[in-house]
Amino acid sequence: MLRIVNPATGTLIQGVPCDSADSIREKFKKAADAHPGWAKVRLEERLGIIAEFRRLIAGETDRLAAILTSEVGKPIRQSRNEVIGTLIRIDYFVEAVGEVLQEEVVSSGKVEERISMEPLGVVANISAWNYPFFIGSNVFLPALLTGNCILYKPSEYATLTGLEIAALLHRAGIPNDVFLPICGGGEVGSELLKHPFQGIFFTGSYATGLAIAKASAAHLPRLQLELGGKDPVYVCDDVSLPAAVREVADGAFYNTGQSCCSVERVYVHQRIFDSFVEEFVKEVRGFVVGDPSEEKTYIGPLTRPAHVVFLEEQVADAVSKGAKALCGGKRMARPGNYFEPTVLVDVDHTMRVMREETFGPVIGIQSVTDDNEATERMNDTVYGLTAGVYTRNAERAKEILRNVRAGSVYWNCCDRVNPRLPWSGRGHSGVGCTLSKYGILQFLQTKAWHLRTAD
Ligand code: NAD
Repeated sequence: MLRIVNPATGTLIQGVPCDSADSIREKFKKAADAHPGWAKVRLEERLGIIAEFRRLIAGETDRLAAILTSEVGKPIRQSRNEVIGTLIRIDYFVEAVGEVLQEEVVSSGKVEERISMEPLGVVANISAWNYPFFIGSNVFLPALLTGNCILYKPSEYATLTGLEIAALLHRAGIPNDVFLPICGGGEVGSELLKHPFQGIFFTGSYATGLAIAKASAAHLPRLQLELGGKDPVYVCDDVSLPAAVREVADGAFYNTGQSCCSVERVYVHQRIFDSFVEEFVKEVRGFVVGDPSEEKTYIGPLTRPAHVVFLEEQVADAVSKGAKALCGGKRMARPGNYFEPTVLVDVDHTMRVMREETFGPVIGIQSVTDDNEATERMNDTVYGLTAGVYTRNAERAKEILRNVRAGSVYWNCCDRVNPRLPWSGRGHSGVGCTLSKYGILQFLQTKAWHLRTAD
């Protein structure tokens, strides 16, 4: 039994039965049996079902946001943003999928040559808890629209939201055997991997991604891993300070710092370092920390209780090596998994806080002498999800961003995702991509046709 606990209070919300090896085997078989039929359903019909799914979500935004806040502790306004943002993703996939599925005639000579697209088959969608609507729908929407069946395992920390998503898809008309939720934690996830999925689409940590790559290797599935980040922002010496401070602080602390593309390291040109830090700390002190169900709350609890200890250790490591906490630095004396918004200076790359994914309301700010040093520091990581530069100078920004190793790069913005652009990582941030037409193609395989009329 999964215990669903409210991270803001530590109280039990409800228990949910976990899937077993037998129920997973049965669900895999159901999906495999359903696949040939689902693959033949016309695109117009699938589009109609997803349009109905959109209508259902739009009509239940507040209820869905409240469930999300209760189980992951996301501040309610941010939960609502996520649910509403999902509508925009639906719109994109609905608009783009037809073109990706178009057959292509590459030669019409004596032998007509064509390329068509086929779904992969039965795929696993193993998801994280920090944006369950976004990262789930990045996978199940294009997977369903292109004719795949899905076993969908939401995170054990976002199970109620996952079950709501499944119920809404079924109400909208997705057959029960085409989309099947699986409940449980890591052990249930690893049980899933015993089955010969044609695709495994995972969002989560590098450590789990690596375990999944190893465990699933024998079946040779299409493997997509959307993993963590240690995303840097460099603030040049020519910026408008108030805008840069406001946006970088939001990029670091939105969703209580628990976004894969949260700003995790800030480098500031030495000429403006002191004034940037002073304004940044003022901004962070102004954040409202509290009950995530209240509209005014900007920072809520951490979702996972164990992560409080992880942050304490990261901060202690930094301080023992010479870092200074200008605000925050410790857990809060209240029920729930609260950690004070923390700004560290005098940091360097010997410290865990500048190397390991933090995934919480803690940020290190480091001074750099010039653009070359900033670029070197930004690239000094095993990750490569996003990187940003703040400057008034477009050429300066482009030169830096060309040399930065990351799947998404930002000029005068950060912590931003748009469904029209591919979302991918370098190094330990993963393989494959979601979103954009490239993210739809991940759920398809090509078929080559050589067609010669008999003589
Ligand atoms: P996690 O790796 O702990 O868990 C992710 C999922 O994997 C969960 O559903 C979990 O139950 C399952 N799982 C755990 N062990 C497994 C195993 N051995 N086999 C199969 N499944 C297993 O990650 P998390 O704590 O849920 O999420 C946080 C991480 O996700 C962060 O590193 C964050 O950066 C990353 N993330 C990345 C993106 C992206 O787009 N790149 C988006 C969101 C989150």
